[in-house]
Amino acid sequence: MHTTELESLIRTILTEKLTPDSAPTQRAIAIFDSVDEAVSAAHQAFLRFQQSPLKTRSAIISALREQLKPHLPMLAERGASETGMGNCADKLLKNQAALENTPGVEDLTTTAITGDGGMVLFEFSPFGVIGAVAPSTNPTETIINNSISMLAAGNAVYFSPHPGAKSVSLDLIALVEEIIFNSCGIRNLVVTVKEPSFAATQEMMVHDKIALLAITGGPAIVAMGMKSGKKVIGAGAGNPPCLVDETAELVKAAQDIVAGASFDYNLPCIAEKALIVVESVADRLLQQMQAFDALLITQRQDVDRLRQVCLQDGHANKDLVGKSPAEILAAAGLSCPAKPPRLLLVEVAGDDPLVTTEQLMPLLPVVRVKDFDAGLTLALCVEDGLHHTAVMHSQNVSRLNLAARRLQTSIFVKNGPSYAGIGVGGEGFTTFTIATPTGEGTTSARTFARQRRCVLTNAFSIR
Ligand code: NAD
Repeated sequence: MHTTELESLIRTILTEKLTPDSAPTQRAIAIFDSVDEAVSAAHQAFLRFQQSPLKTRSAIISALREQLKPHLPMLAERGASETGMGNCADKLLKNQAALENTPGVEDLTTTAITGDGGMVLFEFSPFGVIGAVAPSTNPTETIINNSISMLAAGNAVYFSPHPGAKSVSLDLIALVEEIIFNSCGIRNLVVTVKEPSFAATQEMMVHDKIALLAITGGPAIVAMGMKSGKKVIGAGAGNPPCLVDETAELVKAAQDIVAGASFDYNLPCIAEKALIVVESVADRLLQQMQAFDALLITQRQDVDRLRQVCLQDGHANKDLVGKSPAEILAAAGLSCPAKPPRLLLVEVAGDDPLVTTEQLMPLLPVVRVKDFDAGLTLALCVEDGLHHTAVMHSQNVSRLNLAARRLQTSIFVKNGPSYAGIGVGGEGFTTFTIATPTGEGTTSARTFARQRRCVLTNAFSIR
């Protein structure tokens, strides 16, 4: 064992012995009765974690990667069944990506400036206890991803799991906490409450020991966090447009769009939510998409019926969010083919509510436009300044460049399925917290750290 690890272990054992309330029988672990108890326990844990070397953080993350792995199929199954949204197979892929591809301590790169005046180091330091809000759409994926990123940066975490995913989230948090304890001897580096509720989330947001809020969810909860007066990393809603021009490789584009828009029944915030296609290639694209098991609904009254059931009062019908194409067809009173489709397609006008509303359903509205310029104009309306995600299929580099510059999204995927933007089937790391209104983009450990400047005068410029 390395000296620093040994030192950390001894310090941990001594603190456990010297802390009067440390007997496991006398105190709660991970899951607390009240927000205040949970945050206070996480704060105590943070103070001890702060004294630990970086090796301790790395050891925790390695242990999480190894020991959570056998639990992923169970987490995927329970995530889908408890929320009633999405599907087990895709949730397993998302959980795997979160566990294997979220960066650890290596993400905290140090930079230095040296010169005649001396040396300056810029280092990433922890904030303290982070209040992390998780959505129902990626419940366990977000907890795994946030735990790795936030602990790698040296923080403790209070989770506000979605009440609709309470059971699986609490079990996961308890499991993560136990793995952390077994690898470093510190209790309560991740915590939550027995009854996650809106009221508990509100109480957490204004707790004086919460140093930073990381909110992954819809517009209401992000707006609520913004009012707390604390620093907020806000990962809000999106409505990703997917633009296809006449230069695109249509077979690959069709395959990628069906794969991205049907992934976990379109629950991911990054999934293609509206397809905008230049009219000269629209028929061929739609034909190809049907070859990849999308179902084009052609009858006007059927499209109207789908719009009626999928949207209610201008919002997505919660009962149909994350449901399968077969369930959506059934809800609209439409028959489903013997081989259930992966994705439903409806041709609509650019201002149709199905285009402008974030539905989170495997029902992709398709809009024909006369050319690329008209397509980009519509894509900007669909994205609506959310700074989230956009996808484009084209072989024209100038157009790809122009769209990337104009759309200003946190993620811009070119010639691939949307999920390539979070490191699934594409280069780069994985995140399930894409900070949109607050601008941090695809988050990783360094996002959850303060950048500090450490100055030494008149020395250590050795050039
Ligand atoms: P949601 O807003 O309903 O819930 C998010 C969390 O906020 C939950 O924990 C919920 O309990 C809590 N919450 C919601 N309203 C609250 C209130 N008034 N007071 C206190 N707590 C409240 O989101 P959802 O339906 O679970 O997730 C879907 C939304 O999240 C979509 O809009 C999606 O685009 C977005 N999302 C964004 C990202 C991202 O990284 N940007 C990732 C996943 C989901």
